[in-house]
This record gives sequence, C-alpha cells and structure tokens, in this order.
Amino acid sequence: MPSQPRLAARVTGLKPSATVEMTERVRAARASGRRIIGLSSGDPGVPTDPRIVEAALRALHDGDTHYGPAAGAPALRAAIAEREAVRTGAAYEPADILITPGGKFALLAALMGIVQPGDEVLVPEPGWVSYGPCVRLCGGEPVALAMLDRIDLNRLAAAITPRTIALILNSPVNPTARVLSAAELDGVLALAERHNLWIVFDQVYSDLLHAGRFAAPQSSPAGQARTLVVDSFSKTFGMTGWRLGSLAMPHGTGRSFLRFMQHSVYCVPGFVQQAGLHALTLFDELVPRFRAMFRARQVFAAERLAAMPGFACALPDAGFYLFPRVADDDVAQAARWLDELDVAALPGSAFGAAGAGHIRLSLTTSEDDLAEAMARIGKMATQQESAS
Ligand code: PMP
Ligand code: GLU
Repeated sequence: MPSQPRLAARVTGLKPSATVEMTERVRAARASGRRIIGLSSGDPGVPTDPRIVEAALRALHDGDTHYGPAAGAPALRAAIAEREAVRTGAAYEPADILITPGGKFALLAALMGIVQPGDEVLVPEPGWVSYGPCVRLCGGEPVALAMLDRIDLNRLAAAITPRTIALILNSPVNPTARVLSAAELDGVLALAERHNLWIVFDQVYSDLLHAGRFAAPQSSPAGQARTLVVDSFSKTFGMTGWRLGSLAMPHGTGRSFLRFMQHSVYCVPGFVQQAGLHALTLFDELVPRFRAMFRARQVFAAERLAAMPGFACALPDAGFYLFPRVADDDVAQAARWLDELDVAALPGSAFGAAGAGHIRLSLTTSEDDLAEAMARIGKMATQQESAS
C-alpha cells in the first residue's frame, strides 16, 4: 500500500448516520433485485406537487441560475417570518431568518455560531442521529439527556455543568413522534435562563401535528432571545431532495450566522427557494391531506403492532413515525426483519441508548406495502412466541 497523509479525526472519528446508511443499504439491496419494504427512512415518500416543480422550472427559465443573497431570497425570508408569527406567535423580522440547504444545515449553522472547542451541548435521547455528530463537527462535546417519555427537569439540571452552553430540543420528536408540552418547555426555559444556555429547537415535524397543540420556546420574547429555530420544507411538503430549510435567530444575531453561510455553501439555489415560496401558498391544500394520510397509517400500524405478541405500541400525536417497544434486543430484531422479512426499519438504539428496546418505523410507504409489512412482522412475532 502506498503511504498516505492522515485524515482528520473530525471525520474519521464521526459516527456514521444510521438513517442515511440504512437508506443506502436499502437502495443497494433493491438495485440487486431484492424487494424491500422500506420503513426506515424519514422521507415522507410523497411526490413534490407538480405546481411546486413548475415554480422551480419557471425560475430556471427566467434566469435564476446565479449566486443569490447569502441569507436567502427576501420574499422567502419574509414568508417564513410571517409563518412563525401564525404558528408560534414569535415576532421575527426577515433579517432574523437564514435560508439553508435543508434543516440539517440549519442545525449545523446554529451550532457553528454558538459552540466553541470544549463546550458541552445537551442532546435529547432518544433523538435524531445527527445532533451529536453536528456538535462534534463544531468542536463541542454532546452530552446525552434521556427523555423517552418526558423531560425530567431534575435530571436536566443535574446534567448542566459550567461547560454547558446549549440544549438541543426537538418537537415533535424523531424517533418517538412525541410532542413536547408547554409545561415541559416552560421548565426547560427557566433552567436555560438560570444557566444562560442557548436552546436549539428543531421543529421540522411541527406541521404534521395530529392532536393537541404545538408549543415552542420562541413563543415568548424571553425564549425567542435564546432560541435558534431549525425548520425545513422536507417533511411538510415532501421536498427532502430539494434541500431547503431555515434557521430563525434572535434579533441582532443574524449577521454572525450569515458569515458561516458566506464561507461555506454561499446560498441556496434561487430556483429551489422559488419552489419553496410557491409551496407555502399551497400549504392549506396540501398539508391537511398529508396529515390525514400519515394519521390513517399510524392508527392502522399502531393497532396491528399493539396486538402482536412481544410489542407495546402507543399512538403518538404527530408525524409519521411509530416507536413500539419490542421484547427482544432491538438491533437483532431489526436485522431479522431485514434479512428474513425484507422489511427495513431502524433499531431504537440507533437514536441513543435511551431508545434501546424499541424499533422506529417510518410509515412512508404505500398502504399496501404497509399492510404486507405488518402481516410479515405479525407472523414472525407469533412464530417467535410459540417457539419460546
Ligand atoms: N431534524 C430532524 C429531527 C430530522 O428528522 C431531520 C430529517 N432529516 C432533519 C432535522 C433535517 O431534515 P432536512 O435536512 O431534510 O431538512
Ligand atoms: N431525518 C430522517 C430520518 O431520521 C432522514 C435521514 C436523516 O437525515 O437522518 O430518517
């Protein structure tokens, strides 16, 4: 082997993304002829509405093919600020909004703007796989905070050290689809104020609420002043591949985060932003339909799973995930589903130790495929029970 210079520990030491790797595994298995039922990827699986595609094409034909403003198109920033006022009551100026290539980059931009080497950031567990790695990419240290069913404020207070600078929260939660309550968020905000912490609030599933009310820390002026809001078009409109998201920042901080955009991706393609702007005009028509579809699938699959031996499955209040508890080791169980049933799902422990003993199902496939997957899983569960 010829010798080679070293790679940076920043990337060699980074945990691969379990969600992205599973999607690639499924893609490769399908390319080799296997018919896998995919319940693993958090891609809503709905085609982008043709009118949104048309808006992008129009922009392309009109010459929107150059560098644009690094912070994003003014009209889109204004539309997102208006949307926040309606959704959470938070008063943002367009200058407080940064348009990013997806919610994942909004998260990275938020952390790039606040984390210094050695800083600790509390990350929810079970929680989305990219929180910890994004903190590490910024030189920080993620500290897991278990919050499967609720946020335990005593546990949170005990996890805060003099090095803690921020807390990442996500609602509705990936992978459990739980919606954080206003009371929980009030408690967190009080602690964040006492210890002068940032809150990075990831609300990429907030448009897919089925029951209850969505609560957000930026709803109060005090919360808004220390919260960085990560949002995305991916889940709301079935636009994962467009890479369009946003970061809402406290008044007066935008210029600092903007520098990271200027020196990294520069800007999101203008035609993608025009598509997003058009998508927002179709919200009332499209999103209730998506919600109803995901809800029907959740109700169907949760009932099926709850009736199977070895499973306990609650019906969450949002989104398109289910996170049933399983009797066996979750990693072994998910591997058996893939190898023996051709059903791809993710073990709960991929989302941190507090997710162990669960499996995440993403109900983003057709109703027929979902019914088929439930039949296969049910058959295996019955066989396992009679064998034990
Ligand atoms: N946050 C959460 C909780 C997610 O599940 C995802 C899904 N990828 C994202 C952020 C980012 O999504 P995107 O980059 O596609 O906007
Ligand atoms: N967030 C989605 C998921 O959890 C998509 C993949 C990713 O970006 O992690 O499956």
